[in-house]
Amino acid sequence: MESWRDIGERSDFPLENLPYGAFRAHGGAVHLGVAVGEDVLDLAAVAQAGLIDDICERELLEAASLNPFLAAGPDCWTAVRERLTALLQLGGDARLRAANVDRFFVRQREIDMVLPAEIGDYVDFYSSIEHATNLGRMFRPDGEALMPNWRHLPIGYHGRASTVVIDGTPIVRPRGQRKPPQAALPTFGPSARLDIELEVGFIAGPGNAMGEPIAIADAREHIFGLVLVNDWSARDIQAWEYQLLGPFLGKSFATTISPWIVTLDALEPCRMAGPQQVPQPLPYLQTRDEWAYDIALAVDVQSQTMRERGIAPQTISRTTFAGMYWNMAQQLAHATSNGTAIRPGDLYASGTISGSTPDSLGSFIEMTWNGERPIELASGERRAFLEDGDEIALRGWCERGGSRIGFGAARGMILPAR
Ligand code: CA
Repeated sequence: MESWRDIGERSDFPLENLPYGAFRAHGGAVHLGVAVGEDVLDLAAVAQAGLIDDICERELLEAASLNPFLAAGPDCWTAVRERLTALLQLGGDARLRAANVDRFFVRQREIDMVLPAEIGDYVDFYSSIEHATNLGRMFRPDGEALMPNWRHLPIGYHGRASTVVIDGTPIVRPRGQRKPPQAALPTFGPSARLDIELEVGFIAGPGNAMGEPIAIADAREHIFGLVLVNDWSARDIQAWEYQLLGPFLGKSFATTISPWIVTLDALEPCRMAGPQQVPQPLPYLQTRDEWAYDIALAVDVQSQTMRERGIAPQTISRTTFAGMYWNMAQQLAHATSNGTAIRPGDLYASGTISGSTPDSLGSFIEMTWNGERPIELASGERRAFLEDGDEIALRGWCERGGSRIGFGAARGMILPAR
């Protein structure tokens, strides 16, 4: 598709993408927007110009967060996407092009992105069989790598929504209680084993009433789109506290998401069949639909020294989202199978995404095998875990038919503990 707007050839945001976000222009009010090339189409301006009046209420796009639009559901999402496509397409709906276009577009570099939705609840799964197997081998070398329940249900835990932050937010090194195996007693202090987790999360749509599970066949109506997720993890705090109730302060200090929600409609060309599941899951987790998405993922690191010497960020891992054992529909059906209620804007993250080769792992604990084999950086430095001043950038994109459906980045720099 061609646009009358200038969109760079390798842009993450061609006309086929149209991801949703929220931004603050020049310190002013928060508006919703859609990324188009290096610009943002201001959805409040589109609504105020009456360009969606025949589709949905203006208030949905004039809000300061996507929650009302998320609640409106898939018919509304698709109709707005089709209208925006027509307004931007060469030879399409001429109303936007005929208007004073300056009031509809802002440059991405001139604005600050904010969280696209109010995230009321955040759940993190553990759905990569490669990741779960690696951790099992590391910590239970004499036992079965996978716990007996792993192939029967998508394991997850409730994370901390209040500390989900947008791309670019600095991450203060957490302090906490930890006890190395050789130490007799625990101590309190800055985490010495700070890590990343490369994940993809989905943002929930309308949701369900308490007591009424979402059937797996209806999952598509409740999943708006995807973001990149970095589930920052303090391995030393985590290892000492998780016996016996699971992740708590080793995870809750920060979770970074990318600023643009890429819709399932935009990702449709990248949808494919996922891995075969053996044994077959229970009926409430069975689906014949294809629920894997071929999203290429990369992890870049740049240390303080690299920045000072002008050394570009170094890609330390490349993998794909397509190989996840448990898919989003199964995660959603499982998460609501007991009747719990999900709400518009809730975030459901995949769990660390690792491939089967050493260059496709989604965390330092796997890449360095629990810190035993540090990574060599281009500056000559070595990394077992993150040092202060390190910046991590997660990137994701899907390429189909010459167009690139990109996510932008989820970045965060480590600041010293306070
Ligand atoms: Ca995680």
